Amino acid sequence: MNYTKEQIKQEVRENKVEFLLLEFTDMYGDTKNVELPVEELEMVLENEAMFDSSSISGFSDIQESDMYLYPDLDTFLLLPSLVDEDRSARFICDIYKPDGTPFEGDPRYILKRAMQEAEDMGYTVNVGPEPEFFLFKLDEDGYPIRQMNDRGGYFDASPKDKGDKVRRDIVRTLKKFGFEMEASHHEVAMGQHEINFRFDNMLKAADNIQTFKNVVKDIATNHDYHATFMPKPIAGENGSGMHCHLSLFQNGDSAFYDEDAKDGVSKTMKQFIAGILHHARGIAAITNPNVNSYKRLVPGYEAPVSIAWSHSNRSCMMRVPTTRGKGTRFEVRNPDPTANPYLTLAVLIHAGLDGIRNEMDAGEAETRNLYEVNDGSVPTLPTNLKEALSSLKKDELLMNALGEHTSKVFIADKEEEWSEYSLQVSKWEIDKYMNK
Ligand code: GLU
Ligand code: MG
Ligand code: MG
Repeated sequence: MNYTKEQIKQEVRENKVEFLLLEFTDMYGDTKNVELPVEELEMVLENEAMFDSSSISGFSDIQESDMYLYPDLDTFLLLPSLVDEDRSARFICDIYKPDGTPFEGDPRYILKRAMQEAEDMGYTVNVGPEPEFFLFKLDEDGYPIRQMNDRGGYFDASPKDKGDKVRRDIVRTLKKFGFEMEASHHEVAMGQHEINFRFDNMLKAADNIQTFKNVVKDIATNHDYHATFMPKPIAGENGSGMHCHLSLFQNGDSAFYDEDAKDGVSKTMKQFIAGILHHARGIAAITNPNVNSYKRLVPGYEAPVSIAWSHSNRSCMMRVPTTRGKGTRFEVRNPDPTANPYLTLAVLIHAGLDGIRNEMDAGEAETRNLYEVNDGSVPTLPTNLKEALSSLKKDELLMNALGEHTSKVFIADKEEEWSEYSLQVSKWEIDKYMNK
């Protein structure tokens, strides 16, 4: 929806809204919010809502901590709980400095810069994300325990699938949030689920991922479950990915479809794919940002290990589904749902556009099962966070895409996370080596 300030004021009045929720996302992908009473609406609409950013992960130093939340009027939403007692409305906000310029570390701003870059080259991008998640049981104090909510598998029906009612409730709620919902199903692993919603432009898609994850967590809690987007919660089972389907348009037409090409795929699309392949190892630090992310990217669990593209081969990082015409797109399969969606889409777009600009060559589509190819002929994604971070550091295009603030802080924090992890002694090590 495109709202004017006057329309928003009217909606707020007519619906007797009491609370205003101002949302934004920190560097590590967590949604943050602050709630204001409705009497502050005028002040919020005038971009005067200030907050202390020094306590937000990855934001600013203590000496320049005052920031302003500028509500994006198009994200105004009467929260579905309006029908209950909480009469609240939300805005997703952009973050500005006191001097009225955007804060370089705001992930939404970083994505907007990528969108601008695409626009300058005459393109718009649509994104269809597919975040998967697990439902775990809770203990009597409400803390998650390592027991899945069911023992179902791919496309299983009730009663094997014990998540159907939760998923329906999530779908119902998201429809009230204005989402266009698609299919939902039980995923491959026990307790694992997927719910699909319609693609949108990059910014909306990233906003939607955040809203989706928050709704999934809230509804799961209402059903006495814990929803986790952790990439590999159970060793030996499929992990959770967040595949992203990308399509590119120029003057309203697909820039990825070429009816004269044998496979219907345009040169532009192959160059875009080549750009992502070229920057893949650095991209991984953003799309797979945790120690645990790399436990998902191993052979045998439908997650990619190789930096390659294909038409239907799920062992590759990228896959081109069979749809042609306006729906011609590719699926990037390595991102996982702990990635910051704004930064994820920003690095993918910058890399793809780099491929077009430099007319990169993606080579032929891979047809082999790459889980079985380990002769070094195909480059692989990083095998851990440390490798990914060192590739990111060397990738000037990606470092610029993130900007000075974010690249510096992100890498420093994540290196610290890696060293903290390296110092742990796991149960596996005790079991394996205690008797040596
Ligand atoms: N769960 C798989 C992954 O880790 C993907 C399964 C699918 O193709 O939907 O990416
Ligand atoms: Mg899936
Ligand atoms: Mg998929």
